[in-house]
Formats: sequence, C-alpha cells, structure tokens
Amino acid sequence: MKAVSGILLMADLASILQQHNLRKTKFRIELLQLFSETTSSLTAEEIKKRVGKTNDKVTIYRALDAFEKSGLIHKVPDKSNLTRYAMCHTNCSAHAHIDNHAHFICTECNETFCMDEIEVPKMKQHGDFQIKTSNLTLEGNCPKCI
Ligand SMILES: [Zn+2]
Ligand SMILES: [Zn+2]
Ligand SMILES: [Zn+2]
Repeated sequence: MKAVSGILLMADLASILQQHNLRKTKFRIELLQLFSETTSSLTAEEIKKRVGKTNDKVTIYRALDAFEKSGLIHKVPDKSNLTRYAMCHTNCSAHAHIDNHAHFICTECNETFCMDEIEVPKMKQHGDFQIKTSNLTLEGNCPKCI
C-alpha cells in the first residue's frame, strides 16, 4: 500500500479495504478513515468514543484484528499497556508487517506516534542470545505538549 496521508475519499477508502480483502462495511470504512486522519494512534476505547454508540466493542475488536492481519494497521506501544494501533505507512501485507520504525510515547498526553524515519537497528544475535524482534520506544513531549 502507498503512503496514506490527508483525507481520503470514500471511494479510496473502500478500494483500500478491497485491496486488502476486507469487507467494506460502513463501520470499516469509518474506521479506516479515522486511522488515515489521525497523526498519532488509537485505542479501542478512543475509537468507540469517536464512532458513536452503534458499534459495540466486539465489532471494533474484530475489525481491528482483521485490519492488523491484512497489513493495514500495526500495534504500537502504549503508556498504560492498552492495545493501541497506528496506520501502516510502509508496504505491509497480509503476510508480513515491516514496520521497523521507532515509536514515541508522549508522557504528557500519553499518545503514541510512529517515527517512520527512525529505523530500528536490526540485530540477530548477541553472544548466545538469539534475537527475534527488536523495538525502539522513545519517550518525551510531543509538539503539542512542549
Ligand atoms: Zn504494518
Ligand atoms: Zn503530547
Ligand atoms: Zn508505527
């Protein structure tokens, strides 16, 4: 998928869902729009607040799970260990996520931001330790909270 930025048209959103073999329900289009418009990331709780009460938690969790599996969104770290997601801006697919960038947690507003331009160093081995995943989490104040 190409980098997603700015506001997408309904038709674009529907075609992105189609490209990822996802059902094009009204809610899923709304959810994708929410992710494409946010500059940081979202928790299920925040999504529930934004999309109104017609959608129950189960529907939200199911959609988030499907979005993640299809390479549309990825899990990001959260200050309170909540499940938090952000849009994938790299060429992620149903088979592999390649979001090897740093994440920034703002200690004031607790938002998590993707730092797409900061790459996580790839390490395979350290002595007798075999490394399978590596993450880089940065903390501080976001531009809004300085
Ligand atoms: Zn991804
Ligand atoms: Zn902040
Ligand atoms: Zn990210």
